Amino acid sequence: MNRRQLLYGTGIGLVSGVAARAGAKATSSSDDQAKPAALPLADYQPTSMLHARGTHVARARYPVIDIHTHITESSKSINGVDLASERNFHATPDELLPVMDRKNIRTMVNLTGGFGAGLTETLEKYDKSYRDRFYTFTEPCYSRFLEPDYPRIQAEAIQQAYRDGARGLKILKTLGLYLRDNITTGKLVKIDDPRFDPMWDACGQLKMPVAIHISDPIAFFTPTDRFNERYEELNNHPDWSFYGHDFPSNAELIEARNRVMARHPNTRFIVLHVGNFAENLDNVSENLDRFSNMTVDTAARIGELGRQPRASGAFFEKYQDRILFGTDATPHAGNYPQQLFVDALYEIYYRFLETDDEYFDYAPAKVPPQGRWRIYGINLPDAILRKVYLENSARALRLALGRG
Ligand SMILES: [Zn+2]
Repeated sequence: MNRRQLLYGTGIGLVSGVAARAGAKATSSSDDQAKPAALPLADYQPTSMLHARGTHVARARYPVIDIHTHITESSKSINGVDLASERNFHATPDELLPVMDRKNIRTMVNLTGGFGAGLTETLEKYDKSYRDRFYTFTEPCYSRFLEPDYPRIQAEAIQQAYRDGARGLKILKTLGLYLRDNITTGKLVKIDDPRFDPMWDACGQLKMPVAIHISDPIAFFTPTDRFNERYEELNNHPDWSFYGHDFPSNAELIEARNRVMARHPNTRFIVLHVGNFAENLDNVSENLDRFSNMTVDTAARIGELGRQPRASGAFFEKYQDRILFGTDATPHAGNYPQQLFVDALYEIYYRFLETDDEYFDYAPAKVPPQGRWRIYGINLPDAILRKVYLENSARALRLALGRG
């Protein structure tokens, strides 16, 4: 029995209006009075009756660098640790470019370029074949983690990746949540493990930005139960829960990441997913104030930003030079509509940033995939839009903007 069936079976579902009213009349408290007319949450697809304006933003107002996409990925992964140099290619440039041109996307930054031969192949296929349309980041080679000389090997791999054309380093949440003492077994390795210090320093010396994803939505660290705001998402992807076991808390992960940023002030960090705490913009703001080497991206968190539009508007105003446009877009990401690389995904991001439309879906899906809420646009002024879409990423990637 999966969690959804359990939810239905125990009657902890949404109930029809008639049954709800009948139940409410009898007493105010119990759920199981609604049993006869329980509706499985997964079947609930309410249609908004609101007459709200719907602006179709087909193209971004300024050219866009999407700092956070996944065009390739490791062909082998064990217990959450990517181990192969060889890449799976999710889409060819010919499949990507028409969407990019329609949506005014100057460049897609493919964060998961890997290392070694797989990285070289990716750079050839994308970056070098279509100049300035694709940039690729490298990733650590965790399969060599147990070699005694790993810190030096990894730093040198960064230098080689830089010479080969990689634009930055990507850290998946592997570090902190999956990588273990014996790579896939043993105790979890901490984000600020000193064995990675030479790697962070190498990035600083080469001025390669580090795109770092640590932690996850805060709801993933709480029980998957009726009080969890991402219940359906966790029910669909039970392996995304970091509640219990030997997982560190969200706060511990953020503190370890902060120690890395403090220890490597000359290395620039793009802390992905709105600093990995989009539910708490005060926390993100505090860290941005504390660490001048920190920026953030917007990827896969407009569901969080857009349901607090006034706080988000103030956040974008205050940190307009340190927020980078990112989506987490992945071609053919069927199970993750909030990441699906299609026109509709970009139109939603543009609508959120460019309009003051109210109460619209944050992902191209019938049911909101991350939680059952809708979002509101923040209608950024032109000067801020241009920075977020283009200029902040251009600075992070040290591009001379010759066009657009
Ligand atoms: Zn991502």
